[in-house]
Amino acid sequence: MTLRHEFWLPRRADGSEKVYLLGNSLGPQPRRAESFVMQELSRWRELAADAHSSEPEPWISYHRLLAEPLARLVGAESDEVVAMNSLTVNLHLMLATFYRPQGARQEILMESHPFPSDYHAVLTHLRHRGLDPATALCMISPDGPHGLLSAGRIRDEIRARRDTLALILLPGVHYHTGQWLDIPGITRVAREHEIPIGWDLAHAIGNVPLSLHSWDADFAVWCSYKYLNSGPGAVGGCFVHKRHAARTDLPRLGGWWGHDQRTRFKMEVRFDPMPTIEGWQLSNPPILALAPLRASLELFDRAGGMEPLRQASEQLVAYTEQRLRDALGDVCNLITPGAPGERGSQLSLALNREAHARFRITHGAELVTRLAERGIVTDFREPDVLRFALAPLFNHHEDADALVTAMEAIADG
Ligand SMILES: *Cc1c(COP(=O)(O)O)cnc(C)c1O
Repeated sequence: MTLRHEFWLPRRADGSEKVYLLGNSLGPQPRRAESFVMQELSRWRELAADAHSSEPEPWISYHRLLAEPLARLVGAESDEVVAMNSLTVNLHLMLATFYRPQGARQEILMESHPFPSDYHAVLTHLRHRGLDPATALCMISPDGPHGLLSAGRIRDEIRARRDTLALILLPGVHYHTGQWLDIPGITRVAREHEIPIGWDLAHAIGNVPLSLHSWDADFAVWCSYKYLNSGPGAVGGCFVHKRHAARTDLPRLGGWWGHDQRTRFKMEVRFDPMPTIEGWQLSNPPILALAPLRASLELFDRAGGMEPLRQASEQLVAYTEQRLRDALGDVCNLITPGAPGERGSQLSLALNREAHARFRITHGAELVTRLAERGIVTDFREPDVLRFALAPLFNHHEDADALVTAMEAIADG
């Protein structure tokens, strides 16, 4: 099942492959990425401007090669998704369109431990409109241990604030805890009260199955360098539901690439946005940066899509959890929910005082270093969380075994 042989994994000094558990942060390089990039470099060299129009893959429509496979990953129609910009830029574009404070409805709802970039984006939109974040920004505090949020808590908060909310922004899978939120259930409540809802899918795309179109979400944004393995700073993506995407009257931050492609090169000073998500594009796309996405998305299709990957992920994560519990007992303080439906491929391990004593460390980051010395790649997030992901495209059970063996060795020192 695993397509591990299709990836370059980092190696130890002795030449053996490291145990790469950081696909949730920066996915490894698909082996075919280089040839997709080289192909465009050579078309640039040989054709220059003619490559915009020359078959088989003219640059003018190159981004469309990615729309179908992306649509399959997020459960959308192909004119509801586009690969463009980066996550934070796309979030700004979406806030410009969907955050329309009016009358009593002024507030934006987030959770209380958002990824900083999402927070900055929201905060600056409030300031831009002369609103005071102290009153216009609501952050739902967790009702579970370690920052976990129950779906009921979020739904109640939306209902309680139904007359004052102008927008809801939530993470599909939380970067810190690994919690997978109930996207369809929460979206349904938001839609019942006609509050626009957007999802940050940075840790969800390529990790869990999604059906954005039928769930009726208003918009979603994502980056492509985590589970999508498309390279550092890879071109991100955006979803706008068809019921909005077709509306050319929606306010937006415009650019010439969002203008109707049939008249784009008339270079007139009027703006007729495309009646699809492409109407939110700003600039002509970075072809060399889009090329690696083709290698990466091809692998998701070769794996059979998200369903079989999800099954493999569930098994792998359950296996890893069990092995860790058996080996570490008391100090195996996993904060990621145990229910398969509430987590994706990431496990977050909180390192408490007992764990510090057991691993003989004074700060959690030292454990990442100890593991790295053994060729196990993980990361640490303040204040106390060791994160790792079992990405089924390239991780397998032996990786979990290696992690557990290394942890035991560090503990027994
Ligand atoms: C990784 C991540 C980002 C990164 O934003 P970029 O604009 O791609 O740098 C934003 N939000 C969340 C929730 C993330 O996990």
